[in-house]
Amino acid sequence: MSWFNETLYPSWRQSFQIAKTLYEDKSEFQELVIFEAPGFGRVLTLDGVVQVTEGDEYVYHEMLAHVPMLAHGAVREVLIIGGGDGGMLREVLKHPVTRATMVEIDRSVIDLCTQYMPSISDGAFEDPRAEIVIADGLKYVAETDRRFDLIIVDSTDPIGPGEVLFSEAFYADCRARLNPGGIIVTQNGVPFLQAEELKSSYAKFRRLFQDPGFFVAAVPTYVGGFMTLGWGSDEASHRQHSVEEIRRRFEARPFKTRYYNPEIHVASFALPQFVRDMMKEA
Ligand code: SAM
Repeated sequence: MSWFNETLYPSWRQSFQIAKTLYEDKSEFQELVIFEAPGFGRVLTLDGVVQVTEGDEYVYHEMLAHVPMLAHGAVREVLIIGGGDGGMLREVLKHPVTRATMVEIDRSVIDLCTQYMPSISDGAFEDPRAEIVIADGLKYVAETDRRFDLIIVDSTDPIGPGEVLFSEAFYADCRARLNPGGIIVTQNGVPFLQAEELKSSYAKFRRLFQDPGFFVAAVPTYVGGFMTLGWGSDEASHRQHSVEEIRRRFEARPFKTRYYNPEIHVASFALPQFVRDMMKEA
């Protein structure tokens, strides 16, 4: 019996039993492995770190897409940075957006996920509103003159090609690309295990946005308790809607969810005390 050992943390490991390895190779940017694991379906790892599993991907993708979408209420132009598996694009396109631009550095992630894990993108790459750009997200936001209502940073952890997506220069360029009232949300790790990541992002967001913060989601394969999703906007009212208002907006959208609901939406902004304390220390 063989096992995949996730090597994200120096002194704690998550292991998956491998039923079958489907793909294993190095791209120009990172090492990609796709395997099948009992109970989780197909799993994508990059440089030894779990990115997405067919079993629990809906938690992360629904929360990082629907919370800002419904909090804002009138998103038309969306920018996704990273997100090569296509799950974020799939969720974003459930809303009446004009265009969703996805900037992914590594074309092979898109190609391999489309081939081996097609249910994750579920046809999103073929949607006429989807625009796929193969480029470094840092460079893209520095150079584009377009504006967005929502920027979703669906990145790897701050190691390898994803490291630049946690820099202040990148966040500042994102802020400059937002329309008035725009929102940026980010993948910000698991605070119990990645405290420094949380503090460092919060210090940067506090300097850049009038309303910086986090919301939480419990993703089984991002182990270690709640993961924090970063939030930045200059419009504070987006985070203060009542459950009734979010329910009214959600019920007007013709899709079903498996994790997200209006109560979870509002509750996700309530942070455990140790996370609040880390924010004070940032
Ligand atoms: N949901 C996942 C998680 O939290 O672990 C993230 C998955 S998604 C597949 C991350 C994507 O970000 C990868 O496909 C990777 O190639 C892409 N990426 C990393 N660095 C990037 C950069 N500088 N610009 C654009 N995309 C980048």
